[in-house]
Amino acid sequence: MENTLKVHDKEFKLYITAEKIQQQIFSMGEKINQRFANTDPLFLAILNGSFMFASDLMKQVCIPSEISFVKLASYQGTQSTGQVKTLVGLDINIQNRTVIILEDIVDTGKTLSEFLPVLKSFQPKEILIASLLFKPAALKHDIKVDYSCFEVPNDFLVGYGLDYDGHGRNLPSIYQLVQ
Ligand code: 5GP
Ligand code: MG
Repeated sequence: MENTLKVHDKEFKLYITAEKIQQQIFSMGEKINQRFANTDPLFLAILNGSFMFASDLMKQVCIPSEISFVKLASYQGTQSTGQVKTLVGLDINIQNRTVIILEDIVDTGKTLSEFLPVLKSFQPKEILIASLLFKPAALKHDIKVDYSCFEVPNDFLVGYGLDYDGHGRNLPSIYQLVQ
């Protein structure tokens, strides 16, 4: 595993190893298995960023459940554009279901603050948020992150699903921008 690498024009350094990520996902899976054993939850993974996290978490989930995917976007380059666009919508009935949103990272919380009311309009029983990463210092919206694997500082990260202009999502570890 390399300690620094280049994605496009920028340099990144190793921040969270693949091994540490898997450990934290394992313990999140255990908590979810216990709490939602009898609720048949629907996991709703937000693409593209959460694809690796969703895949690894779901391998730890051993209770009756379903998974579906929606695609949203709010980032361009290393700055939030501040505009959330729903690209691929919900295609499953969530009325009276427990919905667990799977996110790669909660940053300002804008994505979820725009998406949650849409989701609530379909009358789920409850909505919970499970995010791989959470940047508490960047949070600007009233969002409660129910489960997160790591709380991270307000730095730009790539890898394990997170991209820099489309690149770096395939990295098994998480890297931090070198300023
Ligand atoms: P929010 O709407 O909470 O500000 O941002 C959520 C989305 O912004 C995340 O799902 C993610 O796609 C993107 N994002 C936020 N912080 C980072 C980061 O450090 N690196 C990358 N690659 N994307 C981020
Ligand atoms: Mg995302």
